[in-house]
Amino acid sequence: MKIAVIAHDGKKAEMVAFLKNNLNILNKKNIHLIATGTTGKHAMDAGLKVERMLSGPLGGDAQIAAQVANHEVDIVFFFRDPLDKHPHEPDIAMLMRLCDVHNIPLATNPATAELVLNGFIKHHK
Ligand code: PGA
Repeated sequence: MKIAVIAHDGKKAEMVAFLKNNLNILNKKNIHLIATGTTGKHAMDAGLKVERMLSGPLGGDAQIAAQVANHEVDIVFFFRDPLDKHPHEPDIAMLMRLCDVHNIPLATNPATAELVLNGFIKHHK
């Protein structure tokens, strides 16, 4: 089970809170976490084992999108900041588009992420 986590700067605090709340689930051996560079550093500081990609603006979202296209990622938690501009907007759109193309669960805010994770737990009991 591979889960990708990405948070824009304005949403990193919410991502850290979400990860900390779900540390016991996300630290399970059968879960492999990948993240964009800075988000991954925050996740590691929060106590998680994470494989870090490049930082988002340098191609990290695109690297994760490629894995989505290859069906190597099972869930994407992508806390976008809709109130900020992003130089890598094309990569962000690509990642979200590929999740929809390949029917990969994509949670773009903490409320949805909780529901997706709960659904995942129920499904894998
Ligand atoms: P970051 O990238 O985790 O390296 O900040 C996230 C993004 O902006 O897509």
